[in-house]
Amino acid sequence: MMGNSDRRLLIAMLVAIVAGGCAGFFWGAAMQSVAWIGQLFLTALKMMIVPLVVASIITGVAGLGDVRKLGRMGLLSVGYYACTTLIAVAIGLLMANLWQPGVGVDLASAAAVPSPKAGDVGMADLILSLVHPNIVAAAAQMKLLPLILFCILLAAALTTIGDKGAVVIAFFDGLNDAMMRLVGWLMLFAPIGVFALIAAKLGAAGGGDAFVAQLAALARYALAVISGLLTHAALLSLLLLLLARRSVLGYLKNLGTALMTAFSTASSSATLPLTMEGVQAAGVSERARRFVLPLGATVNMDGTALYEAVAVLFIAQAYGIELGLGQQMLVLVTATMAAIGAAGIPEAGLVTMVMVLNAVGLPLDGIGLILAIDWFLDRCRTTINVFGDSVGAAIVGRWTGG
Ligand code: ASP
Repeated sequence: MMGNSDRRLLIAMLVAIVAGGCAGFFWGAAMQSVAWIGQLFLTALKMMIVPLVVASIITGVAGLGDVRKLGRMGLLSVGYYACTTLIAVAIGLLMANLWQPGVGVDLASAAAVPSPKAGDVGMADLILSLVHPNIVAAAAQMKLLPLILFCILLAAALTTIGDKGAVVIAFFDGLNDAMMRLVGWLMLFAPIGVFALIAAKLGAAGGGDAFVAQLAALARYALAVISGLLTHAALLSLLLLLLARRSVLGYLKNLGTALMTAFSTASSSATLPLTMEGVQAAGVSERARRFVLPLGATVNMDGTALYEAVAVLFIAQAYGIELGLGQQMLVLVTATMAAIGAAGIPEAGLVTMVMVLNAVGLPLDGIGLILAIDWFLDRCRTTINVFGDSVGAAIVGRWTGG
């Protein structure tokens, strides 16, 4: 249920996005003067992530009671992540084939690509990224996957040692509630932060004229990505309705602040505290929320997967390289892996795309073709990433009896 203050916050967020867009569009570079306010908001959000993820995963897993339930919740979550990500890539492939965005693109327009090799990840790297030799260092570097794995194992161990474990779990339970309270306070600052983030970013991109010119040059590509993202959002809404039996509008109202923050920050990890708050307000079961969301923010990226498929086909078309069905199937698998491997930070998908390009033997320089508007599409895909995670929490919550 939405209270008056929630409704006011949602309206303030909408106003902030529109006002930020207008300010950046018309005043361009001058809006750099508010960049620090956006930075302040972003940094404050990031400050919440580690304690929130730790407390949330430990209490979420411990709350399941016995290990078999963890297996069920884990399998359901991973099954949901895998299916929706694959569907997202398939939609991306479909859109790229329909729109043919790369046909006739001027190759000379490619911007220089900053050493894409750095992001080359393979299957072994993906598996290795689950562990880290030093859990404190992993937390310090915000490497969330090893932290999450460690917390799952720790929570499982805590439930097996009786009263001593219960004390530790109670501690994390208190920490979790306190973190959610802090997030609630931080949300009040969100409209100002969002305004500054949008205005400064659009300003840095050269203001309105430059943005319109960049968008026009890559219009068909942007349309293919955005129409794909909208199609996927409609599909997720359908899943929410059918599998979680929830009203889409009601859910969107609760998650509005999180989705708009995702758009403004281009980071699903930084948005995680607000996603948690939104899903909590929507009344999704505690256990599902605490387990599904942190994991989802790190591995489940439908928007990224979809965008990678469109981008790779765009590059192939631009270079006049025909990708047959087999090659496109390879894109399906590798783009799914690349999305899982992408961190929830700005432009991470652009880096892991190297893996998909390598798999189908496309020139890495092709990335330079899409660089100009990636900052904008990143925001769109991050919004869908966060929506996908929250729909997952509702579905898993319902299917595990919450
Ligand atoms: N920025 C995206 C996210 O945080 C990842 C990406 O696609 O670059 O979800």
